[in-house]
Order: sequence, then structure tokens, then C-alpha cells
Amino acid sequence: MDRLPAIDPHAEFGERPYELSLRPRRLAEFIGQDALKQNLAVFLKAAQQRSEPIDHVLLYGPPGLGKTTLAHIIAAEMEATIHVTSGPAIERPGDLVGILTNLEPGAVLFIDEIHRLSRAVEEILYPAMEDLKVDIMIGKGPAARSIRLDLPAFTIVGATTRQGLLTGPLRDRFGIVSHFNFYEADALYEIIVRSASILGYRIEAAGAMEIARRSRGTPRIANRLLRRIRDFAQVDDREMIDLEIAESALASLQVDEKGLDPLDRALLRAIIQNYRGGPVGLETLAASLGEDSGTLEDVAEPFLLQSGLLMRTPRGRQATDAAYEHLGIPIPKRSTGSSLFESDDPS
Ligand code: ADP
Repeated sequence: MDRLPAIDPHAEFGERPYELSLRPRRLAEFIGQDALKQNLAVFLKAAQQRSEPIDHVLLYGPPGLGKTTLAHIIAAEMEATIHVTSGPAIERPGDLVGILTNLEPGAVLFIDEIHRLSRAVEEILYPAMEDLKVDIMIGKGPAARSIRLDLPAFTIVGATTRQGLLTGPLRDRFGIVSHFNFYEADALYEIIVRSASILGYRIEAAGAMEIARRSRGTPRIANRLLRRIRDFAQVDDREMIDLEIAESALASLQVDEKGLDPLDRALLRAIIQNYRGGPVGLETLAASLGEDSGTLEDVAEPFLLQSGLLMRTPRGRQATDAAYEHLGIPIPKRSTGSSLFESDDPS
């Protein structure tokens, strides 16, 4: 078994806010998402050569895949200041006008959950993104008048979990649209090894690979599992995370062989046991699990769909044969192969 170079613990790292210190800061440190990264490197370089801010960027993909991290990297690569806000935080149009009129030339404005901007706020954004103009109302009642202010050239980086959540006009104003995919185990392995070295804990290759395999393709989950497994290793007086402690800690954390967590399994089990394998509507499923439907759709479902354990059909969610097998539940006749849509078919 390959042993990775051991890294001595550094006390100073223990004090840092982990999310911050584990975040890669430059594009070269950003692991995985190769296609997205290569394109972005070209767009960044072209903008730098023209001494212009990079075009507005829309990042979309499930939570924890690196959208916020990449927004900060874009600002760092452009040597620009970054302002961070989110859709729900900008309540009134005036709030956005305030933010926009205070931007420095070339600044990056990162708007997380950009699909949650209200319509009135979105309408301020259109002329700002397209023409660098913002309209503000002066005075009240009959004396009120609108004046148009010029904004310095700037970049909006918007993040959203699903592109379809954005209104058409807003989506159309982004010159660069980048989709995040779940990470391959090899990329997660690299992320885990890097994070372990930042945290100052030694990790064996096999232990890191096991965590990578079970991280639902998501760096945030990989880092979270690593930190918890380190707790188990430390309390167990182990100097290094090896395969044995990784496996036993993952079992204690209820993360299974495929990386599914208790919510994932509860979702699949509910479809299979309460709705005979589906199809079942998302809202019905959410109600029976006592979960928010948005959480199911954004957090649990994308990975289950990608893993082939769940299907979305026009009539709702359906568990696949692989889901039955994974949960060790016998596959009933109606859910096999071509008979998936049987209940629709009167014959
Ligand atoms: P999102 O904004 O998509 O929810 P974040 O950017 O907050 O995700 O990423 C979650 C965490 O995962 C970050 O704190 C960072 O440490 C880690 N991370 C994300 N992407 C990468 C990557 N490509 N390489 C290394 N670490 C990453």
C-alpha cells in the first residue's frame, strides 16, 4: 500500500476557520472540473489581456461543489475586490442599487442563490448588467423623478443549484454559463489529501480513497467526512487515518458503501415501501419524509439520479432496481426492466 508523505501537525492550523482555510484560492489549486476550468482560464486570460473585467458568470450545480470557491478565485485571478451577497439578502431594489453604486471599477459581485432575487430586484440588475446603468427614484409622489446613474465596469458572478430556476431574461444576461458536475473519486482523493495536509493530519492513500469514494461526488462532504474521521482517529490515539479507521468511522457516521447518508436511504426506502417503488410526486414524498421538497430536490436527488438509484418520470420519482438491490429489498415483479411504466398501461 502506498503511503503518502507524512505531514507534521501544525498547531496554527487548528485555530483557523476550516471552510476558509481549505478553500483553494487560485485556479491552479482548484482540483477537478477540468472542462470548466480550462474554459474559464481562457476567458480570464482574454479579459486580462484586454484590461477589462471578465463577462458575467453564472455557476450552477448542486451544493458543495465549489461555486463560492470559484467566485473567489475569479476575483483573485482578476486581482479584483469581491463583494459577497445572496438572493434572499437583497430584499428591496434600493438595497441592490446601494451595492451597485458602491462597487469599485472591475469589482466582482458574487450573488449566491441568485434565483431567489425578487422580480423587482432583478429588474434593477438587467440594465446594470447590460449597459452599466442603474435607475434611481428621487423624491416621492408627483415630484418623484427617475435619474440614471452610470456604473463602473464590473462582473456579476451568480450561483444557483439549477439553471432552470432562473428567469429567462436573467439567464440571458450571463456571457459565461458554467455547469458543475459531481467530482470523480480521483479528484476527491486529491482534495482530501490536500485538506488533510492543511489540517495537519497524516492520511494513508487507502484511507483517503475510501473517503473519496463515499463523498457523494462532493468536495464539501469529502472535507466534512475527513474532519469527522480525524476526530475518530484522534480520540482513538491514532497518528494517521488509515483504511481501518476510515471504514469504522464511516460506519459510525452512517455513510454507506455508495456514500449514501440517512436522508438518501430514507428517501429511497419511502418510495419503495410507501409507494411501491413509485412513481410518486415530489411534494407527497417530501410530506411523508417530513422534509422540505426543495432540500430533497437540491441536496438529495441529484446524486441519487446520477448514481442510477432514482429516476424522474413525468409522473414522479421512481426507485430503480439498483435502489432495491442497494437497500437489500427484493425487487417486485412490476419494477423490473421494461415494466417500469406498467401501472400506466391498461393491457
Ligand atoms: P458551493 O458554493 O458550490 O456550495 P463551496 O465553494 O462552498 O461550494 O465549496 C465547499 C467546500 O468544498 C469549500 O470550502 C472548499 O474547501 C471545497 N472545495 C470545493 N471545490 C473544491 C475544489 N475544486 N478543490 C478543492 N476544494 C474544493
